[in-house]
Amino acid sequence: MKLTVINTGTFKLDGGAMFGVVPKKIWKNLNPPDENNLCTWSMRCLLVEWDNRKLLIDCGMGDKQDPKFFGHYEPTYQPTLIEDLASKGFSVNDITDVFLTHLHFDHCGGAITKNEKDQLVTTFPNATYWSNQAHWEWAVNPNAREKASFLKENFIPILESGQLKMIPVEQGIEAFPGIAIFFAFGHTEAMMIPKINYNNQVICYMADLLPSVDHIPLPYVMAYDTRPLLTMVEKAAFLKEAEEKKYVLFFEHDAKNECCTLVQTEKGIKAEKTFLLNSL
Ligand SMILES: [Zn+2]
Repeated sequence: MKLTVINTGTFKLDGGAMFGVVPKKIWKNLNPPDENNLCTWSMRCLLVEWDNRKLLIDCGMGDKQDPKFFGHYEPTYQPTLIEDLASKGFSVNDITDVFLTHLHFDHCGGAITKNEKDQLVTTFPNATYWSNQAHWEWAVNPNAREKASFLKENFIPILESGQLKMIPVEQGIEAFPGIAIFFAFGHTEAMMIPKINYNNQVICYMADLLPSVDHIPLPYVMAYDTRPLLTMVEKAAFLKEAEEKKYVLFFEHDAKNECCTLVQTEKGIKAEKTFLLNSL
């Protein structure tokens, strides 16, 4: 198995929304905001290769929305998903599988693109796209709170293309050889966290269960989460297992830190050391 980090640039989200009940007096030192209270976040994807498979985990936000939409989020596109894939030797035709942790726009926007006729089409024509039924239905019929995050143009074309397949919602299921899925229900319905067996280590793609190293302390839960108390339970259980089994956490949204390991201290579980994935 081979792992390749695929970068899709940074974007900005409100610091208060990202740190929930944590006071700004504290979080502003962790991720300094701009004059509009916006903090910078990465959209870091991961390409997993084994046998003839090339599985891309998440796709960043893509570039097909209008300037007004992007004005809220200030994406840099340095690089774009396609550019970074190309710079690492991959074309869109090479990707055999696209695994979407969940369907919020900053995770799946890049899955769909506009063709020269301005039609919405899948970015990866040869790929199977993976979601799960519980989350799919949740996204297609969004609640009022998550509606702004579930943009139909990011996922309905996947269904229409015939490329969509569902992973059964069974806690711990090995969805692909060496890749087990942890299902989390606090951020949104049935978000999928892949746990990848790689060189006798487990690499966990944290998505929005832990957006950054700064979200490791238990009360640091995003205001976006639909069930914040459940996120705290899920985080506590996940961190305990990850610390005991020496997992490597891989962060999608942490613009400073790619990976970390954990250590138990008197004040709870903390980041032990941070490092780049390719240093493993
Ligand atoms: Zn999300």
